[in-house]
Amino acid sequence: MSGPLRIVLLGASGSIGTQAREVISRYPEDFELFGAVTQSSPIEPAPARLVRAHERGAEERIEELVTHPSCDLVLVAIPGAAALRPTLAALQAGKRVALATKEVLVMAGALVLGTARSQDSIRPVDSEHSAIWQCLWGEAAESLERIVLTASGGPFWGRPDLDLSSVTQDQALNHPRWEMGPKVSIDSATLMNKGLELIEAHHLFGVSLDQIEVVVHPQSVVHSLVRFRDGSYKAQLSQPDMRLPIALALSYPRRLPGVATPVAVPDLSPLEFHALDSDRFPAVELARRAARAGGGQPAALNAANEEAVAAFLAGRLPFSGIVPAVAAALDQDLPRGQTLEDVLEADRLARAWVRHSLGTL
Ligand code: MG
Repeated sequence: MSGPLRIVLLGASGSIGTQAREVISRYPEDFELFGAVTQSSPIEPAPARLVRAHERGAEERIEELVTHPSCDLVLVAIPGAAALRPTLAALQAGKRVALATKEVLVMAGALVLGTARSQDSIRPVDSEHSAIWQCLWGEAAESLERIVLTASGGPFWGRPDLDLSSVTQDQALNHPRWEMGPKVSIDSATLMNKGLELIEAHHLFGVSLDQIEVVVHPQSVVHSLVRFRDGSYKAQLSQPDMRLPIALALSYPRRLPGVATPVAVPDLSPLEFHALDSDRFPAVELARRAARAGGGQPAALNAANEEAVAAFLAGRLPFSGIVPAVAAALDQDLPRGQTLEDVLEADRLARAWVRHSLGTL
């Protein structure tokens, strides 16, 4: 490759975006921040082209940026449905996409993969999917038998005594391992995060929904595992540090020196794994059902969940009401197809339904 990889960063001021800028700054011979979309400016390093997310005509300027001939790779780290159009535009233009936004594949996995020029066009940034990706390097597709996603379990796993209908926002936001924004923290506490990741893994790695399992691993050191048909497992381990999957999605197939400080193996112990209690945490099975139903269901799952989490954070829904609200939203009449219009309509219907039903949930 000649010269640094020219990166367009969508979501430069969020948690992933901030860490991505740190990685880009640390390796100036490898990376250049060509363009960025941000909520707040200025940002460091200053990109050649900057779009503010809420400025007039932002949508067109973002599309222009991600399809620009000088852009080599787009790192998608804006939350939610807003990431969908620019991701599709970048893939259509033949750009490599490093994907940190789960919603893109959850809402429209078939559409997004159909738009990608090759399976290689999309590089995962989510720590679990990065782990699976790494475990599969050099392996034949037919060898893969099972994907095992690890879940930290969030703050309420291992507290079977706790009444989930009475937990407070502070309790739910207090994640034991990762520093995250409020939406992801609540998703981690309900395990919906893992439900969304299950759908993401199904699309990214072309495995059936039944081949993906979730285990609780409170230490968040094993980021996920794969099992091969010979009965062997492969896992990827590191301290929880998002700079690792971010850097790898940018530098693939190379590994950069010194992205994170290594930890001695004894300091990684103990490593525990537990079966998921799906009765107490039904979100993973709900997501699996939505993905199996297909059409607008996964988009509705994601949208209803966003609304239900917002309602919980606003004190209008108990914690234990979040997943049942999402389940009820999926019972609505939703689009059966998965065109861009279908998924956006499913998103809209599910949001409206949760908002209007809040008083009765
Ligand atoms: Mg994750």
